[in-house]
Amino acid sequence: MTERLYYNDSFLYTFRANVTDTQELKRDANQSTWAVKLDRTAFYPTSGGQPFDTGRLRTESKSGVPLEVSVEDVFEDDTGEVWHRISKVLPPGAEVSGLIDIERRRDHMQQHSGQHLLSAALIQLLNAKTVSFHLGEEISTIDIDVAAVSRDDLVRVERLSNEVIAENRPITVRYATRDEASRMGVRKLPEREGEIRLIDIKEFDLNACGGTHSQSTGQIGGLLIRRTEKVKQGLRVEFVCGLRAVKVARREFELLGEASALYPCAPGDLPANIGKQRDEARLVQKREARLLEELAELKAAQLIHETAGKPGAKVIVQNFEDRDANYVKLLAQKLTKGTTGVVALLASTQSAPALVFARSADLSSDMGTMLRELVTAAGGRGGGGKDFAQGGVPDPKQVQSVLEEAQGKLR
Ligand SMILES: [Zn+2]
Repeated sequence: MTERLYYNDSFLYTFRANVTDTQELKRDANQSTWAVKLDRTAFYPTSGGQPFDTGRLRTESKSGVPLEVSVEDVFEDDTGEVWHRISKVLPPGAEVSGLIDIERRRDHMQQHSGQHLLSAALIQLLNAKTVSFHLGEEISTIDIDVAAVSRDDLVRVERLSNEVIAENRPITVRYATRDEASRMGVRKLPEREGEIRLIDIKEFDLNACGGTHSQSTGQIGGLLIRRTEKVKQGLRVEFVCGLRAVKVARREFELLGEASALYPCAPGDLPANIGKQRDEARLVQKREARLLEELAELKAAQLIHETAGKPGAKVIVQNFEDRDANYVKLLAQKLTKGTTGVVALLASTQSAPALVFARSADLSSDMGTMLRELVTAAGGRGGGGKDFAQGGVPDPKQVQSVLEEAQGKLR
């Protein structure tokens, strides 16, 4: 089995090793992907909610030209062996030096060690047990076995975690048998037998774990709890630690700055200002609806008055390029509800072309069938009842001919 160097030193970023085995993972038309096994490695393979390390492997080829490949994935196979996915194959037996991507490892250590703290604080303050952990690209989450946690309780948990970070307590690795570990009061024991690796946050938490961790709580840097979400097994808690927390805070500070510059106001006044503007917008909408109603009523009276034809047989045809479909519908209603002998063939081409056909109740023509036939023939959709129908056509240029055809059918 590969010796896992990160077990005893998660700050080991360079190491020497020998290639003990290779396998071809996949061969495309012109590219193969390879995996190599080493006798020892500092690369962490994806497991326990923590993603793999990336980095490089470097060797000397027979001709003396160094060969360097990037490590793109590190995974365990079914037998627990660690494999490093690389783009070019390295010969078995080759001596290599490995270089871990420090920034990624440090970030993973901050998030993962922070998770131990958070899980312990949740137990201590709320008796909420962690059932799973996921270290994501931007945000990490744990699922806890309670249905809900109040905002105040989350703040207490966050506060305790950050106090322990400020105390800079040592984080050490210990090994124990299952019985010993259980006597020590380990937070969550794994199912398997054999030696168990324990992560000890001095006088705060003791838990079984195979991941990479900081050497002291101070290195976690800080912990920020974000939103929570109900999930099947309880509650999902999002959190970020260390440099991620700074990055998130910076991004959100800048967003707040941009938003408050729009008003302009101090960031703290944003909620009140947004609430005020929303109330005003609602009033404006109500006022606009009232005005449109009045306008449609006046427009309807004007159109009936202007349209030639004897009372009882007026066909009003009009396309509105500067009014939306709602206004045209409203106008069609004003023209035909409570009137006699009026047919309205209206359209709006302000945005997507819309058509409305309507008639007074005393007439007998079938608006729904007529509109459906005409717009379907034009590649559009629509329909409705005998006295009121609406629909649309794909192209505004088709509106005029549809209106004319409808007018022709009525004659
Ligand atoms: Zn861990």
